[in-house]
Amino acid sequence: MNRIIISLQDLSKSFGDMIAVDHINLDIGEGEFVTLLGPSGCGKTTTLRMISGLEIPTSGSIYLEGEDITYTPPEKRPVNMVFQAYALFPHMTIAENIAFGPKIKRWPRSEVQAKVKEMLSLVQLEGFENRKPSQLSGGQAQRVALARALINCPTVLLLDEPLGALDLKLRKQMQLELRNIQKRLKMTFIYVTHDQEEAMVMSDRIILMDKGRIVQIGKPVEIYNNPANEFVSRFIGDANFLSGMINSVTDERTLVDVSNISIQAPPLQGFDEGQKVMILIRPEQITLFSHAEEAPSSCLNLFPGRVENAVFLGPIIRYDIRIQNDQLITTDRTTTTNDPEYQVNQTVYVGWDSINSIIFPI
Ligand code: ATP
Repeated sequence: MNRIIISLQDLSKSFGDMIAVDHINLDIGEGEFVTLLGPSGCGKTTTLRMISGLEIPTSGSIYLEGEDITYTPPEKRPVNMVFQAYALFPHMTIAENIAFGPKIKRWPRSEVQAKVKEMLSLVQLEGFENRKPSQLSGGQAQRVALARALINCPTVLLLDEPLGALDLKLRKQMQLELRNIQKRLKMTFIYVTHDQEEAMVMSDRIILMDKGRIVQIGKPVEIYNNPANEFVSRFIGDANFLSGMINSVTDERTLVDVSNISIQAPPLQGFDEGQKVMILIRPEQITLFSHAEEAPSSCLNLFPGRVENAVFLGPIIRYDIRIQNDQLITTDRTTTTNDPEYQVNQTVYVGWDSINSIIFPI
C-alpha cells in the first residue's frame, strides 16, 4: 500500500441501543479506490459520515495523514462528499455550481475560471457552463456534482451511492468514467455501494461489511476467489452451495459427504471428521460433458444428472442440472466455447476440479 492517508482505529458509532459501526479498523492508502460494500443497514454510510465529520464517533479514532481528526469539524477537513441526491443549486448555472467552493474560499477570479474549465473538461461537460441544473440529465447532473467536489482538490473524496439514481446502462458507463477520473487524478476515493458488481468494477480494494463490522478486506479477485465465510460468498457473485459433513482429511484431499454423494476438496487444516460444512462451487468452474469418458482426469468431482433448465443469456447459457442426489447444480457455459448446446431433459455429467470446492465451517 502507498502512504496511509486515512486510518480508522477501533471506530464505533451507536445510535441509542443501535450499534451502527462496531469497532472497525482500516487503513486506506494514497490514490486508492476503496469501496465499502455490504447489505442495507450494515454501517457503510455511517462510516463515511464519520470520515467526513458529519457524524461524531462513539469511540475510536480517525487519522488523516497521521493527524487525529476524530473531532475536527467537517469544514476543516480536506475531504469532500458526493451523494446520490446531487443537490445542485437550481438557480445557479453549471459553471457557478462548480465554482461554489473556490468562491467561498476567495480564490482569485481568473484561477476559478481556469479551474472550472478544467473540471468541465474532466467530466466531459464542455459547453454546458451556462445551463441550469434543470436542463441536465441525471448522469450529467451527477458529473456536475463530481466536478463541484473535485475542484476543491480534496485529499480524500467520499462518494455515497452516487450512481444509485441512474439507470443501469448509464450507471455502468459512469462507473468506468469515475474510475478513469480517479486514476487520472491519483486521488483517494472512498466509495459506498450495496451493489457487488459496481464494487468489483471500480475498486482497488473492497471492504465488505456486515452488521457494523468488517468481514473481509481484499482486492475484488481475492474476495471472489477466497471468500472469508459463507456470508461473503453469498454476497459476492453467484454460487452453488452444498451442505455436508467432513468424511476424511488427508494430506492429499478432503472428502465431504453430501446426501449420497462424496465431494472432493483440497487438503484442509482446522477441520475435523464429522464436522458440518458448506461447500461453495462457482457456476463458471463447473463443466458439462455428454459422456463421463470426456472428463479430464483432474475432474475428480463428476456426477451424472439431467438438464432441468437451459437459459440463454447472450454471452452465456445458464444450465440447472439435477444430479443423482436430487441436488440442483447451476453452471454457466460461455456460448463462444466449442461446448455442445445441451437440451432440457438431456442426461449430462457435471464435473469440477477439487480445487474449486471451497469449504466453510457452519
Ligand atoms: P444503506 O445501504 O441502506 O444506506 P448503510 O450500510 O449505509 O445502509 P447506515 O446508513 O450506516 O447503513 O446505517 C447503519 C445502521 O444505523 C442502520 O440500522 C440505521 O438504521 C442506523 N442509523 C443510521 N443513522 C441513524 C440515525 N441518525 N439514528 C438512528 N439510527 C441510525
